Amino acid sequence: MNEKKTATELVQQMTLEEKCSMLSGMDFWHTQPIPRLGIPAVMVSDGPHGLRKQADKTDHLGLNESIPAVCFPAACAMAASFDRSLLRQVGETMGDQCQHEQVGVNLGPAINIKRSPLCGRNFEYMSEDPYLTGELAVSLIQGVQSKNVGVSVKHFAANNQEHRRMSSDSVVDERTLREIYLPAFEAAAKQGRAWTFMCSYNKVNGEFASQNRWLLTDLLREEWGFDGYVMSDWGAVSDRIKGVEAGLDLEMPGSSGERNRAVLQAVQEGRLDEKYVDQAVEHILDVNLRYLNNARPDTPWDKEADHALAGRLAAECMVLLKNEDGVLPLRKEEKVAVIGEFAAKPRYQGGGSSHINSFKVTSLLDILNDGQNVHYAQGYVAKSEKNDPALFAEAIEAAKAADKAVVVAGLPDSFESEGYDRTHMRMPENQIALIEAVAQANPNTVVLLYNGSPIEMPWIDDVKGVVEGYLGGENIGWASRAVLYGEVNPCGRLPETLPEHLEDTPCFLTYGGEGNRAEYTEGLFVGYRWYTGKLQPVLFPFGYGLSYTQFKYGSLTLSTDHIKDTETLTVKVDVTNIGKLPGKEVVQLYVAPPKSDLIRPVRELKGFEKVALEPGETKTVSFTLDERSFAYWNTILHDWHVLSGDYDIQICRNAEDVDLAAIVHVTGTKILPRHYDVDTIIMDLDENAMSILQESMQAMMGSMTSEDQSEDSAISAEMSMAMMRYMPLRTFVSFSGMTLQDLNWLVDRLNKGREGRKTR
Ligand code: BGC
Repeated sequence: MNEKKTATELVQQMTLEEKCSMLSGMDFWHTQPIPRLGIPAVMVSDGPHGLRKQADKTDHLGLNESIPAVCFPAACAMAASFDRSLLRQVGETMGDQCQHEQVGVNLGPAINIKRSPLCGRNFEYMSEDPYLTGELAVSLIQGVQSKNVGVSVKHFAANNQEHRRMSSDSVVDERTLREIYLPAFEAAAKQGRAWTFMCSYNKVNGEFASQNRWLLTDLLREEWGFDGYVMSDWGAVSDRIKGVEAGLDLEMPGSSGERNRAVLQAVQEGRLDEKYVDQAVEHILDVNLRYLNNARPDTPWDKEADHALAGRLAAECMVLLKNEDGVLPLRKEEKVAVIGEFAAKPRYQGGGSSHINSFKVTSLLDILNDGQNVHYAQGYVAKSEKNDPALFAEAIEAAKAADKAVVVAGLPDSFESEGYDRTHMRMPENQIALIEAVAQANPNTVVLLYNGSPIEMPWIDDVKGVVEGYLGGENIGWASRAVLYGEVNPCGRLPETLPEHLEDTPCFLTYGGEGNRAEYTEGLFVGYRWYTGKLQPVLFPFGYGLSYTQFKYGSLTLSTDHIKDTETLTVKVDVTNIGKLPGKEVVQLYVAPPKSDLIRPVRELKGFEKVALEPGETKTVSFTLDERSFAYWNTILHDWHVLSGDYDIQICRNAEDVDLAAIVHVTGTKILPRHYDVDTIIMDLDENAMSILQESMQAMMGSMTSEDQSEDSAISAEMSMAMMRYMPLRTFVSFSGMTLQDLNWLVDRLNKGREGRKTR
């Protein structure tokens, strides 16, 4: 195609018919070409943890074959790395793969917040925390796009359940949207400069995301400065004309030209301004040109090298949850019973549109064949929940005869997938029974888990070791051995809380919604924000993870003890490896807000760094905090606001374990608009207004307090003061003899402040 032409110039040369034809895909995976102008089709493909390029039969649920590709750890695992450089590396590798396969946009990352452990697609999402999700997503995006291939950040927005996913309406209040469900998307647009966004299937506060002007234009484009194109999730379009006007540039897949013709007619009949069509086409062309002008089909794809990388990355993502008596790492000379079908046939990815036709898969057993002293027993049938007595008995015998037993267990495919939600958090009964029996047979039992979302662990006290392996991608076998035998020191941290029971979870009572209405009643209190606030015991908190070595923190310093919200604060802390092995620590910084009327989480993650340390080595980790580290979303200003006060900067091992803390006083500089009227209550007056009111207050206090201030007095001065806080100004007329005229004068004076009218 003619490289010199810009998207704007091309649009000017196109007929209305040609422009409308570009508003939807040519087929399942390509944008519409315009041969007359030399505009080629550009291919898009899933995402997010590998390439699902369908050359033949197409579908959006991973049903038909795609080309063989390398399956990296799923997002649930990658997020556990807490490692920006790892995400960047995956991104760069996927960018190269796309270049090799001539794919212009990779459909990912998927960055919806894990609102409930039940969401069937949690394995594809990163975390319950918006900051962690945003930071990791930005690294992945920058990695892919550094290769001149676009990402599609999905599913925008508030798509946190699979139940009724194409019809449900996520009803979320403004502050919760801004503080929990939108920040990762905001980071993807602002810092990541994502080329494309994919709108979600659901409605957001009453309007389908695919035709939600506030979401797609006001917020994404105008407020966040997004300059790419927005595509629909596959089949998410309802009213295409409304969608074009709202900012949905590309409908995917195509609708055999049906909806394009409807748009054409709407323009011809004057129901839709042609400028919206022009804009959409220009956005699509502009992104396509970014790729086409830099296409490198000669980019090599060394699948063996990427497979090895997938294994190394998976090992960095595994989380060591329990390690009593140093049961791990295993030693080569130990006789180990490896039990469970997943040891031979691992579960390493989830079902649906992200499903990769893996280049090659390793199991723990494949990798263990090189010399370890291992005896394998299948133990259970992964596809069944029923106990198989023969397999069970064989496993117990193996466990008895070994020094240590490793049960590889988790969730079978059918338990979690795109397209539907889980109904409970339990593992299959046969696996639970097996773990419990193996633990009885061998006191040194370790459980290695392959699952994409939290499970209940009724056996947790019976076993000595637990490794959360998540869905670690095609080379999970290599990674599993590396972690179990200490070739890699585990360094993953939980990107989500593991609750004890489903009933403990924040939206247990309302998740899924009522019919199509899914009200986010728990508001801000998602994940650790809920458990820390309620002091609700959990199995393992957000951010938790052990190592085969130990780390010590010290010398926490702040660059200053007071800042304005327009300034930044530098926080430094030393971390030392005090154990005997090299290892990596994830230093987590949380900010705890000052006490105030404002409803806020106990603490929120605002910084994290992963550092590699040799035994005895110390490194200083540095964090920079800015306005957003302290701000909440103010629904009067419709903006971020920092409340002035003392904030606690907490260096934590995880969301529940504060190691070091220091206070900084932050002064908020944005003035909140204040307006008083007769119904304003006394506690909502500022200091200035209180001083103006003193006289009237004395009079009212007098009317409420009895003369008798002895111990038997019914109402003490303190009690009346406490009651008075809730009284509206109008009650001065009722209780302190003020005239209505005086009341109005007073309100007027309070609004004008001290500098206002001083005399009547
Ligand atoms: C999924 C998207 C995916 C698309 C194309 C949809 O069902 O929700 O995440 O990118 O299909 O496969």
